[in-house]
Amino acid sequence: MSEDLIIPDSENKKVNLNRFTSVVFGCKTNQSESDSIIRELESAGFKLVDFKENPDFAIINTCTVTSISDKKARQMIRRIKLQNPEAIIITTGCFVDFNRHFLKEIGVDYVFSNGQKGEISNLIKKIYGYNLANSDTQPNLKLTGKHTREFIKIQDGCEQKCSYCIVPYVRKKYKSEPPLKIVSEINQSTENGLEEIVLTGIHIGKYGADFKNKDVYAANDIKLPVLDLSALIELIINKTNVKRIRLSSIEINEITDKLLNLIKNNQMIARHLHIPLQSGSDRILEYMKRPYNACFFFEKINKIKTVIPDITLTSDIIVGFPGESDEDFNDTLNAAQKIHFSKIHVFKYSPRKYTPAALMSDQVREDIKNERSLKLRKLAAKLREEYIVSNNEKILRVAVERINHAGNLVSGMAENYIKVYFPLNTNAEVIKTGQLVYVKTESVYLEGLYGNLVDI
Ligand code: SF4
Repeated sequence: MSEDLIIPDSENKKVNLNRFTSVVFGCKTNQSESDSIIRELESAGFKLVDFKENPDFAIINTCTVTSISDKKARQMIRRIKLQNPEAIIITTGCFVDFNRHFLKEIGVDYVFSNGQKGEISNLIKKIYGYNLANSDTQPNLKLTGKHTREFIKIQDGCEQKCSYCIVPYVRKKYKSEPPLKIVSEINQSTENGLEEIVLTGIHIGKYGADFKNKDVYAANDIKLPVLDLSALIELIINKTNVKRIRLSSIEINEITDKLLNLIKNNQMIARHLHIPLQSGSDRILEYMKRPYNACFFFEKINKIKTVIPDITLTSDIIVGFPGESDEDFNDTLNAAQKIHFSKIHVFKYSPRKYTPAALMSDQVREDIKNERSLKLRKLAAKLREEYIVSNNEKILRVAVERINHAGNLVSGMAENYIKVYFPLNTNAEVIKTGQLVYVKTESVYLEGLYGNLVDI
């Protein structure tokens, strides 16, 4: 089922180019990496199709953060293999390193660890006879069209080694992207009409930690005596026209005064921080090897709320960590209530092979984990509802995500991470996906708010 396309090589000869599918699981970093592969392949003439449309090859970018992630990776690889027995199957991502045996057994053709992801598009080009020596080494900067906010990967790796987490073993050492590469990706993103970007990475608070010679990275007229996350954001503000910058997850101890003041003084930085709490119990935080205790967390949250009163705070929490007693769990419930997170991702602890927590003797029973997960989810839903209601009858700045012409309905994500809907009406010509618009909210709608466009 190949189509005739033109390969842009030196001879410009016409050959069959093939159709591929890309499936991605897990974090925004994975998504950003899959987007880069898609961009490179599309620029070489390959065509992206759904995995149900008989692709000629499939790239499956996996996650291994929980046992459910592993299950999803296994299921998807099996499914694609079964539905497309002739297709070349390429797997990558965090699942592959510790599951080589399974991948070999099931007949996956190529396995790329995270550090080798950048080589995937070249391998495919080679397989299809693309002349790499004459190929354009510039990355294709066209957008994938899959998102209305671009995920910009600024960093990879984590060296923190929380006792439950497998990520440091599969993502390895800190590796920051050069600032000017980031600036150029953002500029391309805004040229393509996306007005919000999300700075993403495995541990973004460590941006720049691995730069040895800062001058190497501070090119042209840009002087960066300290190259950290705040300096990078300042650079983005000065060197791009992006209208909204959102940060992905950041550790509480890496939120500096400089970063808080930057957010306070620049309306273009979304007033939203996703800060993993993981547990409200000092004992459990210590077992988890998290770099803070509950008191430090509360004090820092108070400071954040004082500096930026309209900040939105969301979090990740793990329930059922080994040794977690009822009292520890109650500390977590109380902490979530006290901070009033507007959204909480609740994870049930699942032992990850090779991590210290998997070997801890006092594992929590599955039924207790389920019970605690349900309780925390209920609290999270209540806090979320209260937060949504408290944002009714306000003017919110919304990044347009979907335009439903037939249903006369537009939806998008507000700065504070609430889904907002509004009617298309006469603005059909002017509204575009990726654009930032102002909406005056009028009522609670689905799991978000409904309102009307306003001119500011
Ligand atoms: S900071 Fe901890 S939880 Fe986050 S990726 Fe690193 S080790 Fe895992």
